[in-house]
Amino acid sequence: NPLSSILLYTDILCQEISTQDTQQYQDLQMIMKEAKRCRIIVNDLLSFSRQNELLAQPTDLNALLEEIVQEIGIQERFQEVRVQMDLDAGLPTIEADPFQLRQVFCNLMNNAADAMPGGGTLTLRTKKGPWPELITAEVQDTGEGISEENMKRLFTPFFTTKPVGKGTGLGLAIIYGIVKMHRGQIGVQSQMGIGTTFTLTLHEELPAQLDRE
Ligand code: ADP
Ligand code: MG
Repeated sequence: NPLSSILLYTDILCQEISTQDTQQYQDLQMIMKEAKRCRIIVNDLLSFSRQNELLAQPTDLNALLEEIVQEIGIQERFQEVRVQMDLDAGLPTIEADPFQLRQVFCNLMNNAADAMPGGGTLTLRTKKGPWPELITAEVQDTGEGISEENMKRLFTPFFTTKPVGKGTGLGLAIIYGIVKMHRGQIGVQSQMGIGTTFTLTLHEELPAQLDRE
């Protein structure tokens, strides 16, 4: 990755400068910082473009969610977050790409954690419906909520309210692409200061026209 070379050589230049309070050193630090930011954006863009490859297989969504929760349990940003699982034991196996769905739920849970810096409750819910052959999954937080104005821009690539270096604004755009690839739906409900719920609807079996796109 060319960015790695940029970072490496900038680091070498930094070490060659003996005093750190020069303008040159500050400028090099700026190059490093921005190159690191580029690296994050490039990684997100790569997963954004990889969405076209959908490798569907029978997927146990409950098991997938439990797996992800196990993993996030050890992450620092979830330290203050209480996770509540409300999974329908009778949920059928669905035809989906488990790796892409993993990304969907990881992104949603990370956003939920970011929205609850002082702690809160993250609820994961699965259920059958709202129609036959469909299943619903919800990711609910008790975080800061989303303003009406921001609601309209949520899924737009690069839309973020997070400080520089923290958010790329690609998470929800990626999620939207993955859900559409699955012919599913994603909706959001939010109340400022109360919390946010993202609702996903997925098919038990992928509709046939999927192969042609
Ligand atoms: P990023 O997380 O990099 O900012 P996303 O596409 O994941 O990008 O999210 C875009 C924006 O949507 C966030 O910056 C935030 O303002 C808002 N958002 C997403 N999820 C939540 C949530 N659960 N609670 C509050 N705001 C959210
Ligand atoms: Mg995000």
